[in-house]
Amino acid sequence: MKHFDVIVVGAGPAGSICALSLVRTGATVGIVDKSRFPRDKACGDVIGPKAVRILRSLGITRPESALEVSDVNIIGPGGSTVMLPSEQGLDYDGVGWSSPREIFDNHLLNYALESGAEFVNARVGTVALIDSGYEVALPDGRKLHSEYLVGADGAISTVAQSLELVDPSKFLLGFAVRTYLEATIELPTISLWEQPMGRLFPGYGWAFPSAGGRVNLGVGVGVGSNKRAGSIATKELEGYYHRLANAKVVSDGASPTQKLGGWLKMGTSGTTPGKGRALLVGDAAGLVNPLQGEGIAQAIASSVAAARVIEMGILDPAALYRRWIQENLLDYQKASSLLHRIAIANPRLALAAMKLLFNPVVSTRLDSAWGIFWNDLADGAGTIRGARPARLLTKALLKLDTAVEGLAPGLLEVN
Ligand SMILES: Cc1cc2nc3c(=O)[nH]c(=O)nc-3n(C[C@H](O)[C@H](O)[C@H](O)COP(=O)(O)OP(=O)(O)OC[C@H]3O[C@@H](n4cnc5c(N)ncnc54)[C@H](O)[C@@H]3O)c2cc1C
Repeated sequence: MKHFDVIVVGAGPAGSICALSLVRTGATVGIVDKSRFPRDKACGDVIGPKAVRILRSLGITRPESALEVSDVNIIGPGGSTVMLPSEQGLDYDGVGWSSPREIFDNHLLNYALESGAEFVNARVGTVALIDSGYEVALPDGRKLHSEYLVGADGAISTVAQSLELVDPSKFLLGFAVRTYLEATIELPTISLWEQPMGRLFPGYGWAFPSAGGRVNLGVGVGVGSNKRAGSIATKELEGYYHRLANAKVVSDGASPTQKLGGWLKMGTSGTTPGKGRALLVGDAAGLVNPLQGEGIAQAIASSVAAARVIEMGILDPAALYRRWIQENLLDYQKASSLLHRIAIANPRLALAAMKLLFNPVVSTRLDSAWGIFWNDLADGAGTIRGARPARLLTKALLKLDTAVEGLAPGLLEVN
């Protein structure tokens, strides 16, 4: 049986950054993934400003073909557009990257492998806690052994299920599907739209500039824990593309062909992010932003934190790691989960609120705060315009969260 100090299951951004950080502390690390790399992954391909700052601090450079992106256009239900500015905060520059995941994830994995992590190409079936650590069973009968285990295996994590760290009935899930178009678009663009009977579509569409004269176009939908509702996103994609093309938001190009979808687990829902010497990072921990679906920044931040906690060699690293999540990520995850749930359960109320937000008088005053809150950039923003109201909104929503659960649970019931 092959032994490592740490086995990391999953070689997406979370797994590669965790493996890289651990190897740099002198640990022996096995990184196991069911896919051969480079591999594709459904994504809008935007790596946000917080992620970029952490990657740079780890000495990771921008992939050669990646574009820089910053301001975002949002098209509202009535067709008007608001530009959300992206500014430099204390802990991040106002710039993200756009890089196809096939390139980006391989880029990160190469850093981990060149530093000394060992790649094992296999689908992990089960993991088990045994006296001396963790045993990871592979389909060909081989077993791997380690003292610590990191589950970086995405939203539907085998590690989390094997170690009974999840309750799927409590998941707050999204499903999103993307395609590439041979087309161009100037700014990353997000669209919200009205459905029959005055309801807001329970998700949004995006069109992001991508490398090589392409546009990454997709639709995401919030489904709570009802996985069957995920098909709505796929059905909506074609119509969304035609609406954008008719409105000349994207230049003419071929209709979407190759579609790829994936799950997003948001708001830490139904998930305990670690137990004993096993830690969940990134999507496995359910850290996706419940408002806009970003998860790479949280995947990277949680992986660096998990590696630091493991490096300490303490008896119960999961307890310290859970505290890190609580202190650094949980307030926003809870506050934005509440907004997400209210919007999905009350599509008419959500439409009315959006129409108000897109009113020019309101949007010119709130654009910065809106961008900061929506993109979870209030922490580390310093004193830039919009940071204070975004922080106040988080606090107010946390108070409302307690009140709604106790006084008006009907507000969260999907009808
Ligand atoms: C359509 C879509 C669009 C998105 N757009 C964005 C965006 O623009 N920006 C953003 O920041 N986030 C976006 N997200 C979220 C983002 O993709 C995730 O948050 C991010 O990939 C999380 O990284 P991760 O390493 O935790 O998991 P993943 O990237 O999912 O990596 C998990 C890895 O684990 C491997 N694995 C899984 N199970 C096993 C197993 N049993 N054995 C071995 N290996 C296994 C998989 O092969 C995979 O390589 C989007 C998600 C979707 C679905």
